[in-house]
Amino acid sequence: MADISISNLVKTYPGGTERATDDVSLEIADGDFTVLLGPSGCGKTTLLRMLAGLELPDSGSISIGGRDVTYLPPNKRNISMVFQSYAVFPHRSVRYNIGFGLQMAKMPKSDIEKKVQWAAELLQLGPYLDRLPAQLSGGQRQRVAVARAIVVDADVLLMDEPLSNLDALLRLNFRSELKKIVQDLGTTTVYVTHDQSEALSLGDQVAVMRKGRIAQLGGPLDVYDAPSDRFVGGFIGSPPMNFIDAAVTADGDTLVVGDQKLMAPSLLRSFKASDIVLGVRAENVAVGTQRSSGDIAATVLVVEPMGSTVLLTVDVEGQTLKVQAPPTFRTAPHQTIWLSFSPNTMRFYDRETSMALE
Ligand code: ATP
Repeated sequence: MADISISNLVKTYPGGTERATDDVSLEIADGDFTVLLGPSGCGKTTLLRMLAGLELPDSGSISIGGRDVTYLPPNKRNISMVFQSYAVFPHRSVRYNIGFGLQMAKMPKSDIEKKVQWAAELLQLGPYLDRLPAQLSGGQRQRVAVARAIVVDADVLLMDEPLSNLDALLRLNFRSELKKIVQDLGTTTVYVTHDQSEALSLGDQVAVMRKGRIAQLGGPLDVYDAPSDRFVGGFIGSPPMNFIDAAVTADGDTLVVGDQKLMAPSLLRSFKASDIVLGVRAENVAVGTQRSSGDIAATVLVVEPMGSTVLLTVDVEGQTLKVQAPPTFRTAPHQTIWLSFSPNTMRFYDRETSMALE
């Protein structure tokens, strides 16, 4: 069993004024793929490096498979790691690079060869085993780094932005391959990225980090559909969630946006007569050219055909929103269109604290 339990990890770097991780606790089940997601500087790499044993925490603890590893050196943790930079030996063959960890572990040569062949096949590196890393493409070099990490049968696989040096198309292809490989291996994996689409596509659970803390932990759909605060809603999704200043009427039945009115979902009965923020995803706003009851008016600012959808930037009472229309929807800047919101996709946030209203 290689479940991971992280408790109250605090880390401040020498000379640093802020905590790089600030009381982080996280449970990861055996075999789970967990993604640490967040903007630059939020502490994801620091957390991963503490898991790896490359940094020590000021306080808190880490256990893997029930064993306290907080202060163990990296080689005593049975983990393997893939870094953003390929970190391969440039003057050694692909075969040597993949087998390096096994050689260090003094595995018999014939077993090493079998393992290397297995990993090379899995990562489609068979034809390149005798090449030097310089004779490979970036994508192939990154495959070598992954192959090297998986041959050692570690309890835990740690990956720090392993796809970030690849171009967009390669990145997309390798992403799904990596997901399949890790799924088949069943190794507990912790993966760092600042790319929200990568996090949603790969993670069984996603820990969205901000300023050294976990802002929300949940399945990819949970963090996408029901962001726990405005930061998470704004960080996840492309385009990010729309946030609209609105007010709940005194009877709690109506939501007012500027001069326009929407029916308020029952949740808002507890927030009568208050200023709130309505959060809604672009694809959850239905658009029309004719008014239906309950719709609000918007003025089209920008029309962007995206192929499968048309992305519209619109103005509602001086507030800018992104909405998605079907590809056949025809409109133009300055036109008035009508928006309708379905109550179960509307989210609400506190105007002051930015936290979700419940
Ligand atoms: P990125 O995506 O840019 O790698 P990150 O989320 O991985 O960012 P960390 O690298 O963990 O963030 O950094 C967290 C905080 O700790 C940042 O404020 C950073 O400046 C600081 N920090 C990181 N490494 C060091 C170091 N070696 N010495 C001092 N401060 C550091």
